[in-house]
Amino acid sequence: MLSKEKSINIFIAVLTPLAIAAVVWALRGISADKIDSGVITLAVLTVFCSCYLRVQLPRVNIHLTISDGLIILSMLLYGGEITLMLAVIETTLASLNILRQGVSIKPKTIVLNSYFAALSVFVAAQVVSLIFVSVEVVRERNNLTADIWLVALMAGAMFLVNSILVAIFSSLKKERSFWKVWSDNLGSAIMIYVTGAVVALAIEKALTIENINIYLIAAVVGFFGIVYLTFRKFIDDLRKSVDKAKQAERERAEQAEKHVDELQHYVAELERSGEALQESHEKFRHAAYHDGLTGLPNRNYFMDTLKSLLQASRENSEINFAVLFLDLKSFKTINDSLGHSLGDRLIKNVAKRLASLVREDDMTARFSGDKFGIILTDLLSRDEATAFADRLAKRLSEPYTLDGRQVFTSAKIGIAYGNSKYPEAEDILRDADIAMYYAKDNEENYVIFDQKMHIRAVTRLQLETDLRFAIERNEFELFYQPIVSLDTASLSGFEALVRWNHPQRGLVPPNEFIPISESTGLIIPMTVQILHSACSQVVKWQAKAKTAEPLSIAVNLSGKHFGHPALVEQIKTVIAETGINPESLKLELTESAVMDNAETAILMLKQIKETGVRVSIDDFGTGYSSLSYLHRFPIDLLKVDRSFVSAMEENTENGEIVRTVIALAKALKLKVVAEGIESIHQFHQLRILGCEYGQGYLFSKPLPVADIERLLADNTRWQNILPTTAMPVMPQRSDISHLRLAQ
Ligand code: C2E
Ligand code: CA
Ligand code: CA
Repeated sequence: MLSKEKSINIFIAVLTPLAIAAVVWALRGISADKIDSGVITLAVLTVFCSCYLRVQLPRVNIHLTISDGLIILSMLLYGGEITLMLAVIETTLASLNILRQGVSIKPKTIVLNSYFAALSVFVAAQVVSLIFVSVEVVRERNNLTADIWLVALMAGAMFLVNSILVAIFSSLKKERSFWKVWSDNLGSAIMIYVTGAVVALAIEKALTIENINIYLIAAVVGFFGIVYLTFRKFIDDLRKSVDKAKQAERERAEQAEKHVDELQHYVAELERSGEALQESHEKFRHAAYHDGLTGLPNRNYFMDTLKSLLQASRENSEINFAVLFLDLKSFKTINDSLGHSLGDRLIKNVAKRLASLVREDDMTARFSGDKFGIILTDLLSRDEATAFADRLAKRLSEPYTLDGRQVFTSAKIGIAYGNSKYPEAEDILRDADIAMYYAKDNEENYVIFDQKMHIRAVTRLQLETDLRFAIERNEFELFYQPIVSLDTASLSGFEALVRWNHPQRGLVPPNEFIPISESTGLIIPMTVQILHSACSQVVKWQAKAKTAEPLSIAVNLSGKHFGHPALVEQIKTVIAETGINPESLKLELTESAVMDNAETAILMLKQIKETGVRVSIDDFGTGYSSLSYLHRFPIDLLKVDRSFVSAMEENTENGEIVRTVIALAKALKLKVVAEGIESIHQFHQLRILGCEYGQGYLFSKPLPVADIERLLADNTRWQNILPTTAMPVMPQRSDISHLRLAQ
């Protein structure tokens, strides 16, 4: 392939001799006499029109000028030779004029344009002489049709030659196909020549009306000039309005683009906020169905799953599942003594162990505090659930290392097998819960629910209801158990022990209803009532009895009541209303009640002590106790649990414990009360150990008021058990039973 530059050069090289030949032909045909004022006028007009009266039609690349018409006119009036020169001059000057206006146009192009002009006129002149012999012949005929043909031929020849040459040049320059370039410019070229032909014919006809007259030509050209200028103004206006329309269109397009952008932005924003909404929706959903601390499903989620399982089991009897209810042992104590953050970490660790043992299809949930639930599905046999519970209990009782310290806990597990007969999912969980309580009561790792447990649970529920009315109906009765000064075997005071005279059941022991009253909160009004009647009772007895020291009264205080903010006020009110000397009142608190939250307990105990009452630690030795705290508690007495006392004689270890407790109490300047003294042997031993007070069936069972009043009348009744010698003789084991006092 030839390079673009090279092809253009070849093109010019081919055209140059042809153009020169055409010019030579023209120059040879022109004689000086042919150049008259008409020719010069026409030449000036042609140049003027081509330079200044040129208009570009809007939207299309067409320049209209009447100079082409004047060229054709020149051919009609003066023949090909003069016209050829006129065309070359006109084209060259027009090109130079364009150059002057600042449009860059190469000299090569200027030369080529003049070649095109020369060649097109030359070919047109040759075609005319070939077909019509000469222009004059046609004109003399004065026939319009012939004239039209003549002009059409001229214009046609010029058009063809010019357009073909321009197309060749453009196709070389732009490296596009000739046909494409030619057909693209066809329209504009035809317009130019058709206009030219019409203008030429019109002027020629106008000139033939009169003799050729230069003024007439000027007038005609002037007329055309005015018409042309008007036309140009019209075209200019048209172009302006087209430009305006284009501008408006552009602005509209820009506006539309802007709108599209905005819309896209808005849609993206909408999508983003949709995503955020979806995300927060999911977060809410997650929070609603999960436990914050462990991330495990919560009770809601668990119940939803259980409900669907129950529904599925109704539709398909093959489906079987079990619900496990777990409760951690001594979690509250760990939480209170080691701090909540450690408690939280323990829960997290437990959750991890649970998750690691439970299969993927099964579910572990945390209900609250230390309570968890598990659903086991697709059980092959019931043993599978119990084997799992066993594994679980063992794994959970392994030590946990938290903050470098070892913490122990264990789980009590209740199991309920799901079946389609359960009316509600809640019932399955309730049964697992009941079974869990059985596991707790019976110190089992796990217990499987059976219907009998349900009956007991219902009974408990009934008791709970009855208990609510017991206070109003005054169904509680206080029994009093004497507390004896061991040194002198004389009555020192009483412990008030509550009994419930149930209208249907008869006497209900406190161990059965105190836990219920604690869980329902009834314990508080109940205790206030007990305190009131015990204190006013003992005030009466103090007045009656002739004891060396005023009789004391011990009242049990529940751990649930101990933390209650109104407690101190309640104590003060009781003291004020009953007139008891506060020193006579001893409040018994179990070891675990104070130890569960030792720091708070110390503050609370101080306030209680400010009222003047005494405080005892009940069941001492059974709880999870920290001896390090003991000296910080503002207390007065320790009550050694009866389990140590009762086992004193058989078990030397228990004897040791009692001995140690007494020694400890002495060191802390506390008095000791031994509970559950049932034999004279125990009595003697405790005396030797220096235990100040005792209480137990040896002296008396808890008795109703009337019996105590009889007892008060006889204050010497225990004197006979005192040893006769200063150093008591240890009784033989065989003596113990008959030495026991009958009630
Ligand atoms: P506790 O405070 O340790 O009361 C002593 C329990 O031991 C009493 O049982 C009493 O009857 C029993 N007991 C006394 N001497 C002997 C003995 O020699 N041998 C045997 N085997 N038992 C003896 P009770 O009255 O059934 O009370 C049981 C528990 O109920 C009490 O234990 C106390 O924790 C609670 N309780 C009783 N009354 C009240 C009360 O008014 N308020 C509170 N919060 N709890 C009470
Ligand atoms: Ca007690
Ligand atoms: Ca006790």
